Amino acid sequence: MHSHDASTEVLTQAVLRYAVDRIRLDPPPLDGPRTAAELRAMAGRTITPRGVGGLEALRVFSDVLAQATISTDHPRFLSFVPAAPTEASILFDLVVGASSIYGGSWLEGGGAVHAENEALRYIADLAGLPAEAGGVFVSGGTAGNLSALIAARHRWRARAEGRHDRTRGLIIASKGAHSSIAAAGRAMDADVVSAEADDQGRLLVDGLRTLVAGLSDDDRARVFAVVATSGTTNAGVIDPLDGAADVAAELGVWFHVDGAYGGAGLAAPSVRERFRGIERADSFIVDPHKWLFAPFDCCALLYRDPQLARRAHTQHAEYLDVLHTDDDHEWNPSDFAHHLSRRARGLPFWFSLATYGTDAYRDAVEQTLTVTRESARLIDEAEHLELIMEPELSVVLFRRTGWTDQQYQQWSDRLLADGTAFVVPTSWAGETVLRICVVNPRTTVDDVQLLVDSLA
Ligand SMILES: *Cc1c(COP(=O)(O)O)cnc(C)c1O
Repeated sequence: MHSHDASTEVLTQAVLRYAVDRIRLDPPPLDGPRTAAELRAMAGRTITPRGVGGLEALRVFSDVLAQATISTDHPRFLSFVPAAPTEASILFDLVVGASSIYGGSWLEGGGAVHAENEALRYIADLAGLPAEAGGVFVSGGTAGNLSALIAARHRWRARAEGRHDRTRGLIIASKGAHSSIAAAGRAMDADVVSAEADDQGRLLVDGLRTLVAGLSDDDRARVFAVVATSGTTNAGVIDPLDGAADVAAELGVWFHVDGAYGGAGLAAPSVRERFRGIERADSFIVDPHKWLFAPFDCCALLYRDPQLARRAHTQHAEYLDVLHTDDDHEWNPSDFAHHLSRRARGLPFWFSLATYGTDAYRDAVEQTLTVTRESARLIDEAEHLELIMEPELSVVLFRRTGWTDQQYQQWSDRLLADGTAFVVPTSWAGETVLRICVVNPRTTVDDVQLLVDSLA
């Protein structure tokens, strides 16, 4: 273990070669899932008292385990939200791993934190947040939403000066909100109520006002946040952020915007206007591991006033208090979310932004939007398909006329099994339909044409 000898050298070369070869695969094989029993049989026993050796463990990974993980960066991986990390971001992820950086405090990780903050600033500027805005990279949208809502609740309770310290809080979201908002409510023991959405899943401001008007005085006093979504995951529609911000302001509560998937659209001039009102958010999240071309796992969590978040999240302990001087310039990422130790997971994103420049990001997001729009046209024109709605961002929902749930599933299974594509059915207004999500600049209209043809 901790020594650099000849066998470490051999292993170094083998692991680096594997990583470099994987980066160069264009496209990588799609691969597909195996059952736990199959993997047990194929991988054999890997954890043993004497070790199987690095080369053998690497062989098991490349021959068995890697082939049982779907390549989310395959250009025809169009389910859920795919991934499309840039070369520079992947390469730098290796560097972050090699550097033993503790990303939780300025004392230990200041250089890395400075770079992460530059990357956060790029996002804050896209959103039009003020100069004091700041935050931290957390593992994902789920963690980001929870941390933002904890800060929101903390401010509500602090303002109530003790009156609400034991009151169960209330979050107002929309029917189209991501499941992680309900999960945050459960984790925080807070209630979540949903305002009406339109038939595309977009928050209705009138519905929000009706919901607020219908609250009892007690419930009204329990509200600590209004949550809007800038890019729903299933349909890619953006809530009217300005209207939601108005209602939050009238209530005097925190306004949180969940842009985990769609927030990247801020970089694209062709859709930027649809995010109007985002600059009024008290907190905002976007996952660079979704549509900003960073590797897993990476969510940018930004606060309008980071000091509020710091009061909610800072951990105090004898061994930690050395980290909290009175220096205004200290920036301990640990203080801005529900975590302490952390990987400097924003660094691969920073390195990629620094390498290619922000214009390349704008162009890459625009390119995926163009492919999405052209794909919607193809689908709309196909006899056997029906477009459910015009895409607002990079999700296309459509149906294959006449197909049963089972036919959709069989088609999806066959495409994955033969390594062609990964597209799973979703449900829309209770009906099984198809959904593709384009975040990979390597996905082409031809890729989508191939799907269209296979559905005939
Ligand atoms: C994906 C997504 C989340 C959850 O993000 P994770 O990174 O998967 O935790 C939250 N909200 C929205 C709108 C999303 O699309």
